[in-house]
Amino acid sequence: MPATSTRLHGFTESVIRGMTRLANQHGAINLSQGFPDFDPPEELLAALEKAARGPAHQYAVTWGAPGFRVALADKIRRFSGVEVDPDAHLVVTCGSTEAMMVAMMTACDPGDRVIVFSPFYENYAADAILSGARPVYVPLHPPDFAFDRDELRAAFADGVKAIVVCNPSNPTGKVFTRDELEFILRLAEEHDAYVITDEPYEHIVYEPHGHVYASALPGAEQRVVVCNSLSKTYSITGWRLGYVQASPEFIAQARKVHDFLTVGAAAPLQEAAIAGLKLPDEYYSGLRDLYARKRELFLGCLRRTGLSFTEPQGAYYVMVDISPLGFANDTAAAEWMVREIGVAGVPGSSFFRESEQRYIRFHFAKREETLLAAGEKLERLARG
Ligand code: GLN
Repeated sequence: MPATSTRLHGFTESVIRGMTRLANQHGAINLSQGFPDFDPPEELLAALEKAARGPAHQYAVTWGAPGFRVALADKIRRFSGVEVDPDAHLVVTCGSTEAMMVAMMTACDPGDRVIVFSPFYENYAADAILSGARPVYVPLHPPDFAFDRDELRAAFADGVKAIVVCNPSNPTGKVFTRDELEFILRLAEEHDAYVITDEPYEHIVYEPHGHVYASALPGAEQRVVVCNSLSKTYSITGWRLGYVQASPEFIAQARKVHDFLTVGAAAPLQEAAIAGLKLPDEYYSGLRDLYARKRELFLGCLRRTGLSFTEPQGAYYVMVDISPLGFANDTAAAEWMVREIGVAGVPGSSFFRESEQRYIRFHFAKREETLLAAGEKLERLARG
């Protein structure tokens, strides 16, 4: 057989999605791939039924159905204060996953460097490599996963085209401060690089932390490329709706990449999701409170295991330090947990550039009873 592309030798299939398959195979409670086991808001379900009987069953405009883009621009303006022209600043994509790929392919030439903080959401390295770019890693240091400013400056000095900032961060739960984002933006300005943000957890941030939109900072207009998704905000990960928000010049190029990758996101789902984008402010404070309660509940369960873990400032992931359990590596520990404990997490090593085997990542986007059932099973870890 002829050789397949050598580009693909640099990374594996998604470990996160693989753990979901393993969890299903063993009937384990799946706290690996981050998605809810509860329904989207009623307004979206009603709109979905209506969309089924409506006209939107053929291709939408490739860069997004007009009504969806108008509602999206309003929603972005409402929370970030950024003026968004629905016809110029947006490309609607199949989730933030496609948005990241589009952003990276639009920004990078083969051989360009892209800074990725480590630990990182596993797609970023693959996105960079698939766009011909080379990821350059800058560590986030535990316990609070802050970055060292000198290390970041040194990484920029090598000449980079873009930096990826996942905020709130998956898997660490770090929420970047305004000061940190301004520092990153200044470095990007000095080195004429893009700041590509990935912000699907913008509405899942815990007190006293608050989400700062990098796109709203002075100097962001030509430089910040926002990738985002409706998946987490409206509990619709299977709808695959996301977007890129950037300058009109960037978007004009990004539309081409998107058009040839996927043509477009599902037309009826764009129509139905408008109902989500129009939900009042109380929906978002309710979502934040809901996740704050889940966080308390799940962290309480983890405390009873005696293991130490990160306390997320945002998003819904926890990195649990499993080194006291004495496994040879985190993959062995995660597989054992699926089989013997009945709870699935993601081996932390799949998020790290460094050789780090200490963590398993769990998520708590689940109903209370699911979290309590998982907590009960995890308590066995305390008894050894
Ligand atoms: N963001 C989710 C996670 O980290 C998964 C997203 C996906 O699988 N596309 O688990």
